[in-house]
Order: sequence, then C-alpha cells, then structure tokens
Amino acid sequence: MPVTGGSRALVAGNWKMHGTTASLAELRLLATMLKGVKLSCDVLICPPASLLMAASRLTRSSPIRLGGQNCHPEPTGPYTGEVAAEMLKDAGASFVIVGHSERRIGYAESDELVRGKAQAAHRAGLVPIICIGETLEQRKHGETLQITAEQLKASVPEDSNGANTIIAYEPVWAIGTGLTPTPAQIGEVHGHVRSMLAKHVGSGMESALILYGGSVKPANAVELMAIANVNGALVGGASLRAADFIGIVKAYS
Ligand code: PEP
Repeated sequence: MPVTGGSRALVAGNWKMHGTTASLAELRLLATMLKGVKLSCDVLICPPASLLMAASRLTRSSPIRLGGQNCHPEPTGPYTGEVAAEMLKDAGASFVIVGHSERRIGYAESDELVRGKAQAAHRAGLVPIICIGETLEQRKHGETLQITAEQLKASVPEDSNGANTIIAYEPVWAIGTGLTPTPAQIGEVHGHVRSMLAKHVGSGMESALILYGGSVKPANAVELMAIANVNGALVGGASLRAADFIGIVKAYS
C-alpha cells in the first residue's frame, strides 16, 4: 500500500483506560501472532501508563512498539496524577498520543495545550501522534475542513517534521460508534491535511504520516487503508483483542 513520504504505514492501538496485568496476555498473543508475518507497516500499542514497563519487557524481541496515551507539557513538577513525556520514554514508550478528542472534549484541552504536549514529546524523544477531528455538529454545518485546518495550525509545533511527528484524523462522531465516514469523505480530509502540512505547518511536515481513526475494524481496514493519503490507522476498541488487531495490521500485508 503506498505511503506518502516513503515512511512505512503505522497501525496503532489505543487501549484507553482498559487493562490490568491480565490484559498483557493479549499483548503476548499479538507478539506471537506477528511472528512469521512479513510486516509492511509498523505496529504500535498504547496501553495504560501503568502497564508500559511490563509491556516493554514483554515486547522486547517483537516488532511491537509502545506509546503513551497522554503526557504533561512539563518534564517534572507539582502536577499530581500527571505523567511526563520523559517518564513515558523511561518506561519504554517511543510514541505518545496527544489531543485525542476524549481529552480535548472531556478535559477541555485547547490546541495550545496539545501543542505544548507535542513539544514535550519532542523534547523527550517521543513521536507525538497529534489527533484532530470534527464533531458531528461541525460536519453537519460544513465546517470539517476549517476545523481540522485550525486544529492542525495551532496544535503542531514548529519544529515538527515527517520523522518526528504523526497526525491522526479522527472524526469525533466515528470514535467508538461503529460509524465511519465514506471513503470520499476520508479522502477529502486527508488530502486537505496533506496540502495544509505542505503549505502552512512548518517545513518538513509534508511527508508526515496521516492516520485515520474512528471505528476501524478488520472488516473495513482494507478499504479504509487504501484511501489516498491514509497512511495507517489509530484503533480503539478493535485493538483490545489481538485477534481483531492483527486483522487490521494484515490490511498492509
Ligand atoms: C480512538 O479512540 O482513537 C478510536 C479510533 O476508537 P475506535 O476505534 O473504538 O472508534
């Protein structure tokens, strides 16, 4: 499957607030399932921060990369309950999701805060996956391209490039709902994001991976991953079971 910029596609799983040590059995199973699979994409799992260190030990000799789901902009300080990008890195992460709509909406995270978190990721040597996406109301009002452009401009740090930053387009109304935009709707936004990255957002971002996220499953993965400028997936629900997740990874085999 062609990927703009020459980088390999990425299939990323976001476990959200699901998982205790017992859930590591799914990660072990995924590692076993990946053995002998000729991968043409990278594979990432973002478990809860509490599982990162154990997950890191477990995936040491597998192609599975690990990421956090959120980080604080500061490296250290009096921020009870928060996790710094440096701490995620120390626990075995190479990536971190920032600006997921569940945080933008549920915790009132602004574009500026998301940019601060992405900068923190860069400082710590992590690749931020910066999420953008419109609500159903915004789509109904024809505001999708404007909203995603604004989020992109304000959330992506200036020092970003295709090697250190990933964008994920996740329509809020498609997350966890079983609804997906049509391929034409996804293609329109991804094409728009690609041209925005080339024209407006720093230099070097034109080759960044643009993931699609929102109810990706094994049954629709091949169709969704074939859309122009879709360079991989950010997967919630279907990343929790290795048997489902591998079905999405195999869209790239
Ligand atoms: C997500 O939360 O990023 C997501 C895409 O969830 P789901 O795949 O469950 O829609």
